[in-house]
Amino acid sequence: MSEHHRVVVIGAGFGGIGMSIKLARAGVPHVVLERRQDVGGTWLANTYPGCRCDVPSHLYSFSFAPNPDWSNSYSPQPEIWRYLRRVAEQHGVIDRTRFGCEVRSGSWDGRARRWVLETSVGEMTADVVVAANGPLSEPSVPHFEGSADFRGQIVHSAQWDHSTDLAGKRVAVIGTGASAVQIVPAVQKQAAELFVFQRTPAWIMPHRGRDISDTERRLYRMLPAVQRVVRGYHYWLNELLLVPPLAKYPARTKGIRKLALKHLHTQVSDPALRHRLTPDFLPGCKRLTPSNDYLPAIAASNTTLVTDGIARFTPDGIRTADATVHEVDVVILATGFKVTDPSIGDRMRGRTGRTMREVWDAKAGMRCYNGTTTAEFPNMYILAGPNTGIGHTSLIYMIEAQIGYVMRALQVMAERGIAALDVRPDVEAAWDEQVQRKLSRSVWNTGGCASWYLDGHGRNPTIWPDYTFAFARRLARFDLESYYQEVAPAREPALAS
Ligand code: NAP
Repeated sequence: MSEHHRVVVIGAGFGGIGMSIKLARAGVPHVVLERRQDVGGTWLANTYPGCRCDVPSHLYSFSFAPNPDWSNSYSPQPEIWRYLRRVAEQHGVIDRTRFGCEVRSGSWDGRARRWVLETSVGEMTADVVVAANGPLSEPSVPHFEGSADFRGQIVHSAQWDHSTDLAGKRVAVIGTGASAVQIVPAVQKQAAELFVFQRTPAWIMPHRGRDISDTERRLYRMLPAVQRVVRGYHYWLNELLLVPPLAKYPARTKGIRKLALKHLHTQVSDPALRHRLTPDFLPGCKRLTPSNDYLPAIAASNTTLVTDGIARFTPDGIRTADATVHEVDVVILATGFKVTDPSIGDRMRGRTGRTMREVWDAKAGMRCYNGTTTAEFPNMYILAGPNTGIGHTSLIYMIEAQIGYVMRALQVMAERGIAALDVRPDVEAAWDEQVQRKLSRSVWNTGGCASWYLDGHGRNPTIWPDYTFAFARRLARFDLESYYQEVAPAREPALAS
C-alpha cells in the first residue's frame, strides 16, 4: 500500500517552506519531501566562501516573517540559512518534512486522479503536487577533456567541500558569474596563486552593503512597521529604477554601464587589464553583479586572469588554447546550473504518458501558464517555474504570489468538489506568446550575451519581463475558466482535451 497525501510539496527551500506554512494555516494536510537532511534549499547547498545574497536583506525574507536581526544590508549565506531554519521550526515545517526523501519520478494516474510518486523511500500518492525544487538546484558541470586524470581536487560552487583547505594552494576558478564574483575575493585572500578562467567578463556594480547597527535592529524589533517601510523602499526603488531599462528600454541601460565603467576605472589601474574586464554586451543581459572586492582581487599580484579558452585538463592543471599549462591544486567550477533543461522534465509524466520534457519540446520549449501550471500535468504547480525569474529584486516575492495562487486553486477545488484541474493548452499558449513578445525587446534577449536565461534555441523560458507587482496582481485571482476541470467521481476519458 502506498502512502497517500492530499498535497505533496517537493523541496524544503524558500518555496517549500512558504507553501507548507500556508497549507498548514488553511488546515490542508500535506507532507514536504526533501532529498537533503535539512531545510534551506539553495541556501543550504551553496556554502562556498564569500556566499551571500545580492538582494537587499529586508527584501529577502517572507513578507509574513520579517527578520529584524539581519546583521548586514546584504545577508551572508549562514544568516539566510539560519533565518529559514528558524521560520521552518517556528511554523512546524520541520515536523511535516520527510528528510532524505528524493522524488525520483512521478506519473499522473488519470483513473484515480492522483499523482503516483516513486521516491527513495517508496511509493507515495498525492492529489496535488507542488514542485518547489528550485530552478537553481542542479549544478552544471561542464565536461573538460582530461579532467578524470587531474590529480588535484575539483569542486563545484554549489557542492562545496568544507574539508578543502585553500591556504597556500594554487587555485583555479572557472567562470565569472554571480557565484564566481563572490568566490574570487574570498579565495584570493587565502590562495598562494589564483587563476580566474574568464570566458566572458561580467558587469561589476558598486556594492552598497553595510552593517546594520544594533540601534536599527532594536528599532525593527520594537516597531516592525519601520522595517516594512524600509522593505517597501527597496522594493519600489528596484522596480522603478531597474524594470524599465532591463525589460522595456534596453537603450536606457547606459546609466548602469556608466556606473559600472566608473567602478572598473576606480578599482583597476592597468588599462590592458581593464580592457579584458570590459564586457561587450549591455549591462543586465546577464545578472548584474555587485562587488567592491572582485575587481581588486582580479588585479591582485597573486591573481592571473586567463582569457584564452580552456583546451583540456592535464594531470597537473589546465591547458589553454595557447598551449600554456596553468598548474593548480584545486579547481573551483563556478559554472552555474542546469536551468533550461531541469531533470524534473524527464522525471514527471503527465496525463498522456509523455514526460514534461517531451511535452515542452513539442511546443518548442519550457513553459508554464502563470509560471506555475503546464498543460497535461493536472494538479501540479511549479514554484519559481518558467518565466518567473527576476534579476532586479527578490524571487521570494514571486514565490509568495504563486503560493497564494495555489492556495486559491485548492480552495476552489474544495468548494466545488473538483478532483482535477489542468490548464487549457490555448490559455497556456496565449500566455507564452504574450511573455515571449514582451521578452523580445528586453535586455535579456537583445543585450548581445549568452546567458542561462536563454535555452539552446535562444528562446527565453526563464525571465519574467515586467514589474513583479504585475505578476502578483495577475495571480491574485484563481481563474478557473482557464482550466479543464474534472469533478469526482471519475469518468472516462480522464480529462477532456
Ligand atoms: P552563471 O551565472 O551561469 O555563470 C557561470 C559562469 O561559468 C559563466 O561565467 C560562464 O561563462 C562560465 N562557464 C560555464 N561553462 C563554462 C565552460 N565550459 N568553460 C568556461 N567557462 C564556463 O552561474 P552562477 O554564477 O552560479 O550564477 C547562477 C545564478 O545563481 C545567478 O544568475 C543568480 O541568479 C544566482 N546566484 C545568486 C546569487 C545572489 O547573491 N543572490 C549569488 C550567486 C548566484 P559564460 O558567461 O561565458 O557563459
